[in-house]
Amino acid sequence: MTVQLGMPHPRGTAIPGTGASAQSGRPAGLPAGLVDRYGRRATDMRLSLTDKCNLRCTYCMPAEGLEWLSKQAVMSAEEIVRIVRIGVDMLGVRELRLTGGEPLVRADLLDIIAALRQAHPELPISMTTNGVGLDKKAAGLKAAGLSRINVSLDSLHEETFAQLTRRPFLNKVLAGVDAAWAAGLGPVKLNAVLMRGINDAESPALLAWALDRGYELRFIEQMPLDADHGWTRRNMITAAEIRQLLSADFVLGPDPRARDGAPAERFEVRRRMPGTAGTTGPVLGTVGIIASVTEPFCSDCRRTRITAEGKIMSCLFSRDEVDLLGLLREGASDEQLAGRWQDAMWIKPKAHGMDHVGLDAPDFVQPDRSMSAIGG
Ligand code: SAM
Ligand code: SF4
Repeated sequence: MTVQLGMPHPRGTAIPGTGASAQSGRPAGLPAGLVDRYGRRATDMRLSLTDKCNLRCTYCMPAEGLEWLSKQAVMSAEEIVRIVRIGVDMLGVRELRLTGGEPLVRADLLDIIAALRQAHPELPISMTTNGVGLDKKAAGLKAAGLSRINVSLDSLHEETFAQLTRRPFLNKVLAGVDAAWAAGLGPVKLNAVLMRGINDAESPALLAWALDRGYELRFIEQMPLDADHGWTRRNMITAAEIRQLLSADFVLGPDPRARDGAPAERFEVRRRMPGTAGTTGPVLGTVGIIASVTEPFCSDCRRTRITAEGKIMSCLFSRDEVDLLGLLREGASDEQLAGRWQDAMWIKPKAHGMDHVGLDAPDFVQPDRSMSAIGG
């Protein structure tokens, strides 16, 4: 549902963080930035470049795809650059992740990254991609100014990969991962969603493969954000199960580095020595577990999301969206846009509520948008 916050008064919210807003009930005198009613401050921006994708992952998209947005409905390169500039220069955004849909399918991707880099020489800009076509684009992405990359990789078996993504592109993705590493887009992070009976048993092998190559693997709990609405609590693989599955081959210990608002809880990984109970070898690397459902981190959430059509989503599970692009296209000033963004974040929910109620329970309703249409 798009929340109608209306056109801010020309001067009413002129100085982000200081003016009260009648639109959202945001009081005067707050610290500058994207703060909410629960004292959180969003500094990590996820921006979706497109809703389109060339894979059909079962936990995200239906087999037939979705009805794509029109070109006109999607933010142009100039609009993206302006919105990011407002986020960074006026609202305290410190980190940008480009996502989708599949960002690599956007024809002007390199121009967008180059323009963002020119405007923000020091800003960490990363991108989440499915890796299809990355082998040919990695060097260009690096040259344009991309800092780092996350590639989604759920299986190393062709059949399983094709079953999960409904496309036979495993080799393309593997080539893309290696090319990203070679181009200097490291540390390369890999995202894997485990599905019961499909790729869950492969999790230790996937971790071993990533550790061997120096890639940082992160397992993501499957969230109820699939367009098919097939998610069930019973079927999802929980973080506790993931730790259990990995413990067959590895010993996980706490990572001494501070989590610092990161969605993934990181663990140091040592190989379990067969026959030597409790004895382990050296640290081989780290693994991350993003337990959004069963061990949520809402109280420390620092994310603000912009969908491909320029809607602000304060939370992945928010049913309320606030239109930023529409206001921009009406000719709003930077201050008005910043004010609306602040309003949207002010009403960010305290928590998504998935962890203590079932999907069928009355106080958790699966959002209308699927992951690809939000920008994960
Ligand atoms: N297409 C790109 C990709 O797949 O990496 C970027 C967009 S995708 C929506 C971003 C991340 O969301 C991917 O790592 C994907 O595995 C994850 N994802 C998609 N649907 C999910 C779901 N229902 N639960 C958990 N993670 C999901
Ligand atoms: Fe496409 Fe990424 Fe969704 Fe898979 S997870 S269908 S690659 S947007």
